[in-house]
Amino acid sequence: MVDLKSQYKFIKQEVDEEIKKVIENSTFINGPSVIEFQSELEHYIGVKHVIPCANGTDALQIALMSLNLSPGDEVITSDFTFAATVEVISLLGLTPVLVDVDEVSFNINPNEINKAITSKTKVIIPVHLFGQSANMDEILKIAKKNDLYVIEDNAQGIGSTYTSSNNKSYKTGSMGTLSATSFFPSKNLGAYGDGGAIFTNDDQLANVIRGIVNHGMYKRYYHDVIGVNSRLDSIQASILKVKLKYLNFYNERRKEAAMRYSFILKDVQEIIIPKVVFNCNSHVFHQYTLRIKNQLRDNLVKYLNQKNIPCGIYYPVPLHLQKAYKNSRYIEDNFKVTNKIVNEVISLPMHSELSIDQIEYITNYILKFFHKFNK
Ligand SMILES: *Cc1c(COP(=O)(O)O)cnc(C)c1O
Repeated sequence: MVDLKSQYKFIKQEVDEEIKKVIENSTFINGPSVIEFQSELEHYIGVKHVIPCANGTDALQIALMSLNLSPGDEVITSDFTFAATVEVISLLGLTPVLVDVDEVSFNINPNEINKAITSKTKVIIPVHLFGQSANMDEILKIAKKNDLYVIEDNAQGIGSTYTSSNNKSYKTGSMGTLSATSFFPSKNLGAYGDGGAIFTNDDQLANVIRGIVNHGMYKRYYHDVIGVNSRLDSIQASILKVKLKYLNFYNERRKEAAMRYSFILKDVQEIIIPKVVFNCNSHVFHQYTLRIKNQLRDNLVKYLNQKNIPCGIYYPVPLHLQKAYKNSRYIEDNFKVTNKIVNEVISLPMHSELSIDQIEYITNYILKFFHKFNK
């Protein structure tokens, strides 16, 4: 699904040098590379504060911890996302309220958010799923009207740009009260291990968060709040510093690959190609995800497996049906879209090194599969 080895080959010299520097200086924790990466990322995203941490799940948890919420407060998020988004809500004793998504973008449906708001609602967590920005104008409007915080889950969206109705462009991760991102190796900006970060434009929240990631310390050995230990180590930061310079290039390569896939597959009757809902910069194709009609998805997966072509199902079960998050308050009827699309989605290999030949090889087999079915 990804090819991190070929990507490394092109940046090997730079990356090796940066890693060597960290080892030679032995500044493994909180070294200069962490500060440098942090400030370069602030500049790239257009956000005042980037607080690095150990992974994307921690970033979400720490963002929620900073908001002074009480047990039972409700957090609205998408029924169709990676479990990390909802896991941290439950872990903190907050109540996850899952809502249905929009079937075209796979992103949280603002109308469904409106329906789910109660007097206990405090936070909305939109996820920029598969690399496409959620409908931030609508979400921010709802948040403002109801006095709610917004935490963007930007783990899959880093580098995408959302153009608001006032014609201003914002990088995803810079619009919410807070946002969380992940540097897991396969993400669009991936480390060679784990990593994550929290973004905010709010000075006060940034200060609170800098304490939370460091055991709740604002002065050494004085613990004002209950914190965690969550750091991005210097070696990972030094690698990310190099890769950040290439992020726009990587994302352009992903978009080109997506366009090529779509051009070849667009006329197949059983395939719904992914739609870029806003302008062309609002989708960075963390995943290239098709919907397959007529219950043919599982057959296609089997066929591709036989041909040794990788593919993935993100995600096979909506969160409201997962054992850990089953909650009697969810009404099955409220999840019409997620219940349907979990049986239709299939993601094809997508990364910055995908070649034209590889795309043609993959799509040839997909075309063959549907040709067989249509005879
Ligand atoms: C990857 C991911 C996370 C978690 O990031 P980790 O670094 O693996 O902890 C959270 N949310 C979404 C949507 C993700 O894709």
